[in-house]
Amino acid sequence: MEATSSQTNGQVESSLGFFGQVNQMFDAAAAQTDHDRGVLHQIRACDNVIRFEFPIKRDDGTIQVIRGYRGEHSHHMKPTKGGIRYATSVNVDEVMALSALMSYKCAIMDVPFGGAKGGVCIDARKYSTKELKRITRRYTFELARKDFIGPGTDVPAPDYGTGKQEMAWIMDTFTRIGDEDLNALACVTGKPVGQGGVRGRTEATGRGVYYGIREACEYEKDMKRFGLEPGLEGKSIVIQGLGNVGYHAAKILDEEGGADIVGIAEIEGAIYNPDGLAVDDVVLPCDILIPAALEGVITSDNAPDIRATIVAEAANGPVTSQADDLLQNKETMVIPDVYLNAGGVTVSYFEWLRNLSHMRHGRMSRRFEERNAERILHAVDDLTTEDFDEDLLESLIERVGFGASERDLVNSGLEDTMTQAYGEIRAIREEKGVDMRTAAFISAIDKIANSYEQMGIFP
Ligand code: NAD
Repeated sequence: MEATSSQTNGQVESSLGFFGQVNQMFDAAAAQTDHDRGVLHQIRACDNVIRFEFPIKRDDGTIQVIRGYRGEHSHHMKPTKGGIRYATSVNVDEVMALSALMSYKCAIMDVPFGGAKGGVCIDARKYSTKELKRITRRYTFELARKDFIGPGTDVPAPDYGTGKQEMAWIMDTFTRIGDEDLNALACVTGKPVGQGGVRGRTEATGRGVYYGIREACEYEKDMKRFGLEPGLEGKSIVIQGLGNVGYHAAKILDEEGGADIVGIAEIEGAIYNPDGLAVDDVVLPCDILIPAALEGVITSDNAPDIRATIVAEAANGPVTSQADDLLQNKETMVIPDVYLNAGGVTVSYFEWLRNLSHMRHGRMSRRFEERNAERILHAVDDLTTEDFDEDLLESLIERVGFGASERDLVNSGLEDTMTQAYGEIRAIREEKGVDMRTAAFISAIDKIANSYEQMGIFP
């Protein structure tokens, strides 16, 4: 029988399960809106879920049966979009919950996709590269047979336990099946740059986490309320999980944000400076705690011991709904996952657009921008009464004279999207007097309800 709750870390509490907890958060936000009850039911329902099993041959010649899932939560926008996770904890409840979070995330960020999520029930560390390749190819084949993958249908991306290598295998398998489709490359995002990927996608979720936290710290009124000085510089940070999201978030928070990473907790232990080695992952004192591993790690058991002023949810669902209540009660600011880790899907959207346009972002404008910048500098030089010093002019041209590269455009689009969305959520929080998570869900509900209304599908 299927597990009804995610077993990740054995910690997703209550009989509600993970999807039930997401729905509880949804209901709290829905109560603050005046949308029709039927529309609200449609928004929170998970449209399609598949579970399937397939055999693969291990390197030692034995046959193993592998279980896979894909859930498409909402088709209010097409295609649906969401990562593929390789973990032993993957189950139907988790896939439904994560696909629901994807729907809300995309709506909050104005990324025109419905939400989806997939998973394969394996511990990727226990398989060779060749075996992982066979598993990924067969999983993709099964998705294709069931019409759960395609540039206009459902577009996977990396998640826990997967990365660009798996995305390249998915793309290769799909394009072989559907090689007549000119847009086949857009069947998956998070691909290597040489194979249709976009520059900046690998670090996008971590970079988005940085922009989101930086934005939260900018508001003096909010920081004062939580007893912190405004600004990210010098804030102490502890990160749990140093994978794709955690690693890039930590690096960018440190290098570009001037924050102090004082603790890192990984699966096999933790380091904490200045107080030496610590064994407990989440109760280290700091200004900002970033869970970036898996769901259900902050529970009603350990929430009272959290010694952080801000909990920034880089992972999906790291705080259970019971723990969320406890954190709100003790005046901890929670920056919710549905907003904070949406940088990945935002840049995936840019990658998908790049694949559909069959052209690198900035290819047509870069040289033009460069020339324009040069012309402006020469015009300023002509208009000033005293001539620019030649060296100064040269150095100015050098500094501003390069048009935007694809990475510049991607990062700028990401920064703008994260900043805009934070402003919208914060405005809802102020207006309704709710916490950030409820505000983020209200934003998502309003936008999805609005798109249903525009489609006119409800008589
Ligand atoms: P990953 O597999 O690259 O890294 C996860 C890391 O967490 C690994 O290094 C693992 O060893 C560590 N970890 C696992 N259990 C731990 C524990 N109990 N304590 C400490 N460390 C532990 O995965 P990822 O892609 O970085 O994803 C992490 C989270 O972010 C997931 O919740 C995922 O759904 C979410 N997320 C990922 C993306 C993305 O673009 N990859 C986008 C949005 C959200």
